[in-house]
Amino acid sequence: MTISEALNGVLPPGARSASAAGLTDAAQRGEFALQVCPSCGTVQYPVRDVCGHCLHTTLNWRPVADTGVLRATTTLHHSNEAYFRARLPWRIGTVQLDCGPFAIVHLPEGGQADEAVRLSLELDDGGVAVLVARPAP
Ligand SMILES: [Zn+2]
Repeated sequence: MTISEALNGVLPPGARSASAAGLTDAAQRGEFALQVCPSCGTVQYPVRDVCGHCLHTTLNWRPVADTGVLRATTTLHHSNEAYFRARLPWRIGTVQLDCGPFAIVHLPEGGQADEAVRLSLELDDGGVAVLVARPAP
């Protein structure tokens, strides 16, 4: 049995909070949307149930700027998840979004620290939204 045969049907980890469904909804619409506090305007990431700045209890999903700066990168050579083990090495990074928050992202096209990037919400093989950054054109 090959690794591909053994992994047939193995999906990326898909556990997310109910609130995070907004990320998948945005990805399905082809939008880059995050939660925005209607009281103070803070863009939230990761997904929250209350504003991380003012504790307002209503957060609205809104399209936000999809640009940022890649602040750090690393290459994973180990994973506890079978899906990723079959795809190692896997590049990830930390992006400081121009709209405020920091995010851990997938880097399918690589990238270097301090490089400008454009972010997108994409559906992984399990149909769940993940954050992806690519070098800005
Ligand atoms: Zn707020």
